[in-house]
Amino acid sequence: MQPMTQKFQNYIGGRWSDSSDGKTFENRNPANWQEVLGTFPLSTKEDVDRAAKAAEAAFRKWRLVPAPERGSIMRKVGDIMVARKEEIARIMTREMGKPLLETRGDVQEGIDTAYYCATEGRRLFGINTPSELRNKLNLSFRVPVGVCGLITPWNFPMAIPTWNLFPGLVAGNTFVFKPAEDTPQTATVLTEILLEAGLPEGCLNLVHGAGTTVGAAITEHPVIRAISFTGSTATGRIVAEACGRQTKHVCLEMGGKNAEIVMDDADLDLALEGALWGAFGTTGQRCTATSRLILHEKIHDEFVQKLVAQAARLRLGDGLESTTDVGPVINEKQRKNIERYVRIGREEGATCALGGGIPGGQAGSTDPRDLTKGWFFQPTIFTGVTPTMRIATEEIFGPVLSVLKCSSLEEAIEINNSVIYGLSSSIYTRDVNKAMVAARDLETGITYINSATIGAEAHMPFGGVKATGNGHREGGWAVFDFYTEWKSVYIDYSGKLQRAQIDNS
Ligand code: ADP
Repeated sequence: MQPMTQKFQNYIGGRWSDSSDGKTFENRNPANWQEVLGTFPLSTKEDVDRAAKAAEAAFRKWRLVPAPERGSIMRKVGDIMVARKEEIARIMTREMGKPLLETRGDVQEGIDTAYYCATEGRRLFGINTPSELRNKLNLSFRVPVGVCGLITPWNFPMAIPTWNLFPGLVAGNTFVFKPAEDTPQTATVLTEILLEAGLPEGCLNLVHGAGTTVGAAITEHPVIRAISFTGSTATGRIVAEACGRQTKHVCLEMGGKNAEIVMDDADLDLALEGALWGAFGTTGQRCTATSRLILHEKIHDEFVQKLVAQAARLRLGDGLESTTDVGPVINEKQRKNIERYVRIGREEGATCALGGGIPGGQAGSTDPRDLTKGWFFQPTIFTGVTPTMRIATEEIFGPVLSVLKCSSLEEAIEINNSVIYGLSSSIYTRDVNKAMVAARDLETGITYINSATIGAEAHMPFGGVKATGNGHREGGWAVFDFYTEWKSVYIDYSGKLQRAQIDNS
């Protein structure tokens, strides 16, 4: 007998419910596509409308709860996440493929964010200034924006939602949350945890479903005042345009084409470890993944030789197996896209020094390491890449690394800055002067010195410049600038009419 497929629901207005028309979609394991992990509501515009109204009603009360009290809920959230860390990591690995080591890290990022936001509830500092008039005081403090929409991708199914929900809720907002179709279960667990920690009804409304239906309805809903979107640049632009028409706040975290630069004075072994982790961790599907490696010509050949040898030893497999270094890519569409870029790279004249294809295996085998069951793709390295090639400029979002050559720091920086994106960058050098010039001149929101392009910490601002973002940041204190508005209050205790710019001129 077939095991029953677990059925999951939306969470709207304090109740678990199906989609308004009863339709569902399946969540499958990318390492073993035959395995259905559950069915989820394929929600409608009406479901989003109910969610937005529930969030609006909840906001009226939630905004009046003292911020330290809102923060206390996040402390409990953190405690529950600590207790359930391993269980959540396993759920996440099954639904999106990255190895347990990495999904544990993804949960840990959520835990760190919870504890960080819990304490921010006691800060959320305002600014007082002297008034230009006598017997008058000027205050400015933060107030919540209102109902917020959160649209997230599948590559960090826990970390990215927590970066938004936790600070946003502590700041007094309420949410309509649409997670990616590929990772609905992690989002469901996160919702359960917030409820268990004591989040009142209606403050968080989870609506599963398609981006073009649920995502678009969130973007368009008049009650929703701010949208946080993380995903592709193409979709982000659609969201931004819709928000622009409605003068809605929008925070965008989009594509990247991140480079690691290795100078001739670098610790090469360290740089090699960084390149492997940056390029092939999460199967290259991080927005901060290393997709370009800019090598100084003096160390290029030696570095490439070692890199190819070590990347060839990376073990592909199911992320639940402790022997796995690299999991599958997320789905068939994404793997086809990666194949397309490999073809483009070859046509452009780059040399495929490693990988470049779908790994072999026996179709229909019952071996859990059988790679034909899932969307696996070989770690791939292109050499002889020049800065204008498409594989050097466009985001691939897979285990494909393009190696470029430079002859100076200035040239390396120029290559780095020549793409439209600006999320993360990294430089390996022992020369502090070079490191400081790079930190200043690399046009990215994040720069790592002697470390890979990945590794954001919860209490630091996260985000990119140029086509990666639109000036906002997640993480750290900076995220509160998105989730709050400044309120200016003038208190006149003079007992008479004092006219600014007139009575004191
Ligand atoms: P990816 O290629 O990583 O799936 P997308 O940008 O398509 O990136 O998806 C990121 C998130 O945006 C997902 O939750 C997806 O469902 C949602 N989404 C997709 N299309 C739209 C849209 N037109 N409006 C709003 N959200 C969308």
